[in-house]
Amino acid sequence: MPELPEVETVAQGLRRRALGRRIAAVEVRQPAVIVGSPEGFVSTLTGRTLTGLERKGKALALELTAANGAEPRFLLVRLGMTGQFTVTPQSVPIAPHTHVLIALDDGHEELRFRDVRRFGRLRSCTREELQAVLGAMGPDAQRMTEAQFLAAMRDRRGAIKSWLMNQNLMAGVGNIYADEALFQAGIHPLAQPGRVSPAKAHRLYQAVRRVLERAVRLGGTTFSDYLDVEGRPGEFLKMLRVYQRTGRPCRRCGCKIRRLVIAGRSSHFCPSCQPPPRRKAQMHGPRRPGV
Ligand SMILES: [Zn+2]
Repeated sequence: MPELPEVETVAQGLRRRALGRRIAAVEVRQPAVIVGSPEGFVSTLTGRTLTGLERKGKALALELTAANGAEPRFLLVRLGMTGQFTVTPQSVPIAPHTHVLIALDDGHEELRFRDVRRFGRLRSCTREELQAVLGAMGPDAQRMTEAQFLAAMRDRRGAIKSWLMNQNLMAGVGNIYADEALFQAGIHPLAQPGRVSPAKAHRLYQAVRRVLERAVRLGGTTFSDYLDVEGRPGEFLKMLRVYQRTGRPCRRCGCKIRRLVIAGRSSHFCPSCQPPPRRKAQMHGPRRPGV
């Protein structure tokens, strides 16, 4: 599933390949992926020029300027589980599950939105509508300050794995990078955010930043569907330390990586590098008689 590094890679590709280009025509082949009316989607986008691009968390927003000076509109893109957004020559046969075609300039190339599982969404919206969507998210995981991160952890209960993936607290981290960051920080996925030591919380903040930065540099992680705008897979797969490595030896200590289901999602961790959280009673040490 595309997370921040994959979406950022798509954003960088669109900046290179699509900015400054005009939308000549829009074809919706599968209305279910459009938020709002497909007719409105087509009519509000056609004829506009792609003049800007913003990413927050896993959401992408392309700014669309009208030649007549009308208010800009925004194409909000969410890749969902298996979404692909590519710049493709029109001569290339259309792959199955391609739901939207956006012809650029003279129509020799087009943006294609393909999504096998169809959890992705495209929406044409106003600035206010866009701000409402982006404003509901927590700070972007790459731009969040350490003070914001630590404040969001304070007094939080529940599994830290779920906390890392809560888009209302921090936007952009999903299953892959949550597992990897917890491993780097030596924190068990079931630890409670509010009980993690300050030193480990600091390490986790650093780990999130580092793991995202490295993954962006390698173009993200491809397991099955994710591709960049040129149709290339991401290269971070070989860097994974725990994600999807159940039963294989930890690259740091040799212990077997384990899998645990938390809130319906698989978590992968090293039982030795990420020891289980201690209970409160143990944290205060053994009770001494007479005290
Ligand atoms: Zn280990």
